[in-house]
Amino acid sequence: MRIVLTSLIAAAVLSLPALAQDINAEQALIDLRILTTDEMDGRRTGTQGAADARAYIAERYFMAGLVAIGETFEQAFTYTPRRSAEQLNGINMIGYHGYDDGEGPVLVMTAHYDHLGNCGGQICNGADDNASGVAAMLAIAEVLRDHPPVNMVIFAALDAEENGLNGARALVADLPVNPDRVVLNINLDMLAINAENELPAAGAFHFPFLREHIDAIEVAEPVQLIQGYDSPEWGPGGDWTYSSDHAAFHDAGIPWIYYGVDFHEHYHQPTDEFEVVQQDFFLGNAQTVLNAVVYFDERLDVIAAELAEHRAALPAVEEARVGEDGRFMKPGME
Ligand SMILES: [Zn+2]
Repeated sequence: MRIVLTSLIAAAVLSLPALAQDINAEQALIDLRILTTDEMDGRRTGTQGAADARAYIAERYFMAGLVAIGETFEQAFTYTPRRSAEQLNGINMIGYHGYDDGEGPVLVMTAHYDHLGNCGGQICNGADDNASGVAAMLAIAEVLRDHPPVNMVIFAALDAEENGLNGARALVADLPVNPDRVVLNINLDMLAINAENELPAAGAFHFPFLREHIDAIEVAEPVQLIQGYDSPEWGPGGDWTYSSDHAAFHDAGIPWIYYGVDFHEHYHQPTDEFEVVQQDFFLGNAQTVLNAVVYFDERLDVIAAELAEHRAALPAVEEARVGEDGRFMKPGME
């Protein structure tokens, strides 16, 4: 009798509709570990290690049910790195969930998969920077496979961030949808290490209508979410407006939220490895960002309306311009 009862309860529990949309923690940790193995050789742009990372991301995109926009997930681009005249090649990985009606608002998630390769003669595996952001993005894509978003949500694993945000600039210069439709970028860069479990969410200084939305999103344990690091008020090095891929969206006037931790002792060091990742913190961050994606997807028309209001209220500012090399330029930047 006991056995029958237990199995009945189990059946009842299994048949309940999923109330919470939860990331697959085990798979997220596997993705994080695989992206940081020595075989990936630090995922430096243009290397075999980066190609291996892309092959893995393509496999996981496929499993997450992401749809390619062209024939493959790859978006190839050329760029000239900082302090160089050399032309180099990079490849972004792009897929989407949801129905593309050709006109509705679009949310774009980004996380760079490239890292430094070798540094100081050792492999820099870049676990926090930024295998953690990519693994979180993959986990979110997988949840959205089973809980399709209302709007089109684009996922972009970006290349060539470390030498100048080049993948992001290539993406924004050649978006797969009309740029006017993109009302929010959520960028993930470093989600795995902080002694206080503190996760900054930057962006609301520039787009103040985002502030109360960010505060309304459920934060998963053990994460302590704070808003900031997006204005001069945060002191030297404390304004992260240009510190990661969201900067390309910023220059195009597209609202962004950057989720990423403060600098730490393993930043850009060979010690930024899977072993030093705070697993609970990383998983809490991935879940928190999933909550954000679900929250914003459900309200993307509201965000689009608030953005239109925000733009209408702006004084006639100089528009972001595209420089001769095809990059967006800040007003006043030549
Ligand atoms: Zn990074």
